[in-house]
Amino acid sequence: MIKVTLPDGSVKEFAQVVTPMDVAKSISEGLARNVISASYNAATIETTTELTTDGNLVLYTWNDAEGKKAFWHSTSHVMAQALEELYPGIKLTLGPAIDNGFYYDVDFGEQRITDADFKKIEDRVLEISREKHEFKMRLVSKAEALEIYKHNEYKTELISNLEDGTITFCDHSNFFDLCRGGHIPNTGIIKAMKILSVAGAYWRGDEKNKQLTRVYGISFPKQKDLTDYLELLEEAKRRDHRKLGKELELFHFSQRVGQGLPLWLPKGAALRDRLEQFLKKAQKKAGYEQVVTPHIGQKELYVTSGHYAKYGADSFQPIHTPAEGEEFLLKPMNCPHHCEIYNAKPWSYKDLPKRYAEFGTVYRYEQSGELHGLTRVRGFTQDDAHIFCTPDQLDAEFKNVIDLVLYVFGSLGFENFTAQVSVRDLNNPDKYIGSVENWEKAEKAIISAAKDKGLNYVIEAGEAAFYGPKLDFMVKDALGRSWQLGTIQVDYNLPERFDLHYKGSDNELHRPVMIHRAPFGSMERFIAILLEHTGGNFPLWLMPEQAIILSLSEKYENYAKKVLDLLENHEIRALIDNRNETIGKKIREAEVKKLPFMLIVGEEEEKNGTISVRRHGDAGKSNEAMTIEQFASLVNDEIQKTLKQF
Ligand SMILES: [Zn+2]
Ligand SMILES: [Zn+2]
Repeated sequence: MIKVTLPDGSVKEFAQVVTPMDVAKSISEGLARNVISASYNAATIETTTELTTDGNLVLYTWNDAEGKKAFWHSTSHVMAQALEELYPGIKLTLGPAIDNGFYYDVDFGEQRITDADFKKIEDRVLEISREKHEFKMRLVSKAEALEIYKHNEYKTELISNLEDGTITFCDHSNFFDLCRGGHIPNTGIIKAMKILSVAGAYWRGDEKNKQLTRVYGISFPKQKDLTDYLELLEEAKRRDHRKLGKELELFHFSQRVGQGLPLWLPKGAALRDRLEQFLKKAQKKAGYEQVVTPHIGQKELYVTSGHYAKYGADSFQPIHTPAEGEEFLLKPMNCPHHCEIYNAKPWSYKDLPKRYAEFGTVYRYEQSGELHGLTRVRGFTQDDAHIFCTPDQLDAEFKNVIDLVLYVFGSLGFENFTAQVSVRDLNNPDKYIGSVENWEKAEKAIISAAKDKGLNYVIEAGEAAFYGPKLDFMVKDALGRSWQLGTIQVDYNLPERFDLHYKGSDNELHRPVMIHRAPFGSMERFIAILLEHTGGNFPLWLMPEQAIILSLSEKYENYAKKVLDLLENHEIRALIDNRNETIGKKIREAEVKKLPFMLIVGEEEEKNGTISVRRHGDAGKSNEAMTIEQFASLVNDEIQKTLKQF
């Protein structure tokens, strides 16, 4: 008798050995048709693997990340088969699934693969797929595996590091590959496949090793999915924040200043400032107090916090003073500084919670190869705050932070999000600092707050930081991509390390609980995501310039200036394009700059005291004549729609 427990807690009993596919069939034929991979007791298995012990079974379809992973990894086998046929003598190395698709690293020897070859490879992959070959795992002895791959030094290296008795090959069609498993039932469900690109990649990521060719591909169960995906890729290119940042003159990178260190241009700085003011205003209402701390701190500060032991070797190295022998580190996080602010005076339970907020710039070393636009940088500003409270206040404080995060998302047009509660990996207790009792308390507080606030959340074991469990918001952008935005983290550890306390109602000293939180995460990364989400068409309240006054000719300069003054009285941010250019050219340039409104002024407008209003992206529509007052109330109505009161 085998007992199989399903994710909903239901238990199915089977008199004889069964496979995941048998279990799926016992539930419904419909499910069985859709199941493409499975895991048993948290280990990835085949849908045909025989279950011989009791355990927990999860069945995956294309809609699950695990299902996609099996689908893409399986396609990499088929692509490897096609490559071997088309380029005899190549050496295969590794071919894993990635977030979007898969790759295979290949040593092509003297042969070359170019864009022109992609089509024939794709065609062959689909031809093989249509033959509906099953993927079958086979155990191979180490000696045999080494013999089979004796001409492939890469596979030989992989096999040498494996233990005899654990080495498996995967067969399909007349092809086999060294593989740990995790495949779809057969090749027949691969209906669409595309090679996306080829790039150089060093064997095992080490530049001392030979450079291989990485062939990137993606595949889908429907042709339409592939078409949609390719369209999405094109749109993502158009919305790339590095491209938009240049076009909108928001930020710049200078090799002379240093890589990964963004320079904010006037328009970008104005955008940041607006975001900061927006959050500061809400935080003030929520009882936060602004603080300011320096960009460096003594090494001892981070030794105390534990950051030095954990990250010191991978950080910017200490700065030494010329005479005193002092050592300072560039501030990698604001928390230790805020702990010392808390320590500046004694507190009673009646004073708590204390909520210290700072737009604090921090510096973290990233390898140059990891840097990417504003999303991976070496210097960035966190919209940071630390809340120091009593254990009894933790639940309420956590809920208040969730309210603030939801307010931020709502005001910036992020409507589609989920939450992830990251807890300990119970099998790895040594990874974490702090007592088990405190961890349990903190984890409970987060989960109950997420539940009470009606968040759509999942719990991820093993994803917690070393010093505490956390809640992360995962936001889906307009292109359907997920971004982690907004972190709330409970910390029982730093209060201990910094010996923080308050006097309780019992007149004894107690430890406060600390919450770290950052709704934006960092200004740099947030603005990058916002740029790609909106394509640069920010919510109206946030646009550095909400309107541009376009004069039909220089004759109307004075009237244009008068309009600008009137708009300023209504707190509308505008600028004037009074150049001696055609109105068509001025409109086209204003469109590229994503200016929400174009206000055209000429003889008629001057005579009537009006403006001719044209919206961004409204090509073909006729302009609307309005008075300044009418336009101002239109702008204010639109702002009220997105920017609610906190
Ligand atoms: Zn495989
Ligand atoms: Zn912190």
